[in-house]
Amino acid sequence: MIPVRGVNGVRVAVLGLGRSGLTAARALKAGGAVPLCWDDNSDARSKAEDEGFECVDLKQAGIFKDIARLIVSPGIPHLYPAPNPIVSAALDAKVPLDNDIGLFFQSFATPDWNSFETVPRVIAVTGSNGKSTTSALLNHIMNVAGRPVQLAGNIGFGVLDISTPHDGEVIVLEISSYQADLARSLTPDVAVFTNLSPDHLDRHAGMGGYFGAKRRLFAEGGPDRAVIGVDEKEGIFLAGQLSEGPSDDRIICVSVEKKLTGAGWHVFARRGFLSEYRKERQVGSIDLRDIGGLPGVHNHQNACSAYAAARAVGVAPKVIEKAFRSFTGLPHRSQLIAESNGVRFVNDSKATNIDSAKKALVAFKNIRWICGGLQKEGGIDGVNAASDNVKKAYVIGCNAAEFAARLTVDSQVCFTMAAAVTAAIADSEPGDVVLLAPAAASFDQYDSFEQRGNDFITEVKSNL
Ligand code: ADP
Repeated sequence: MIPVRGVNGVRVAVLGLGRSGLTAARALKAGGAVPLCWDDNSDARSKAEDEGFECVDLKQAGIFKDIARLIVSPGIPHLYPAPNPIVSAALDAKVPLDNDIGLFFQSFATPDWNSFETVPRVIAVTGSNGKSTTSALLNHIMNVAGRPVQLAGNIGFGVLDISTPHDGEVIVLEISSYQADLARSLTPDVAVFTNLSPDHLDRHAGMGGYFGAKRRLFAEGGPDRAVIGVDEKEGIFLAGQLSEGPSDDRIICVSVEKKLTGAGWHVFARRGFLSEYRKERQVGSIDLRDIGGLPGVHNHQNACSAYAAARAVGVAPKVIEKAFRSFTGLPHRSQLIAESNGVRFVNDSKATNIDSAKKALVAFKNIRWICGGLQKEGGIDGVNAASDNVKKAYVIGCNAAEFAARLTVDSQVCFTMAAAVTAAIADSEPGDVVLLAPAAASFDQYDSFEQRGNDFITEVKSNL
């Protein structure tokens, strides 16, 4: 655990007692603060009380009078579409907001670093899609390189839960837009921006707010190195704003759409080959085409981002290539779960937005596409442009009929995963791919995308 520094004797309110809230409360306590915890859910409060935390109803009038800070969990809106009432009361009382990420950056460096040969460094990864895959891949590269590393953040392990970093250790942090938006302190050594497409727009009052939140990783004086995907205008803009000139190699530009040229530092993938150019000389090249854990152009983008970040901390191209070859991918992201009679079954339940679903639809051929669920902003129309490889869609979710009506491919309204898998298998021929890539959130039928992916796996296994 990383005890929070600079809070001794201070009263700090913690709103939301899920994973990040509880770890923040623990780390605050370890740093000598007095955490006052609250969650509207009584089970969550009981869990915190069982651990010895004081739960105080933060809705009480005047409660924020002598509270120094309010730690807010990522699922709780702090400004848009409207502030949570407790957050609103804190804002009225002029109490600053923060989160576990901000507490981490405030507390990470300690006096014993003076005796280290190499101070620990943080690589923070943000972007609309590919954050978890890029972060997990980077973690794997560091392991293969024999470098001490810890992986935390949005990927499922609380950032304040990491152990005290060793000499030379690298901390890989996956940072969501919610987390970046709220953290008071956000100062990674290497920051990675994978890509940008619309998502969570209600929480950021539109695309500008969403980009602005992610961009915060590159503010505050800027990281030592910035790895920036430049296949969208926002990435080109960000790289340009940070750069002091064409040969400024503090910025590593990444693309899967174009060959990058010029005097700077570039990593790009074209037709399945990754290339690294620095100061107009080719430094590295990797054939990605037969790397099973990284299928499709979207994963080649993740490979480029992770490669660039690993290069930024001095890992050799040969070691990175070795790590790519042994990377098995993450569950629920382009995950091959079964193969039977020439039909492959791929679980991409994490394709909860239009962009990630489009990427999955171009990564495979002859697709029997299981899609549908709770639609996000932007609607389903955007995905139609990428459906050339789809033989038929099998639509699930509470609005399955409406969803199917918007598709331009042949579709069948199935409502449930069981019906969709059965129908897709019945129609399949050798060479087909039964792909779960919902292009929608899961909450109409499941607690999480993981539960939806596991249901798909169960249904596939019971039908084969
Ligand atoms: P994140 O953590 O940003 O949500 P993940 O690595 O968990 O990213 O992947 C989320 C979804 O996006 C999955 O469906 C995955 O297949 C897809 N995906 C992964 N990398 C990319 C990328 N670079 N561009 C677009 N989609 C991607």
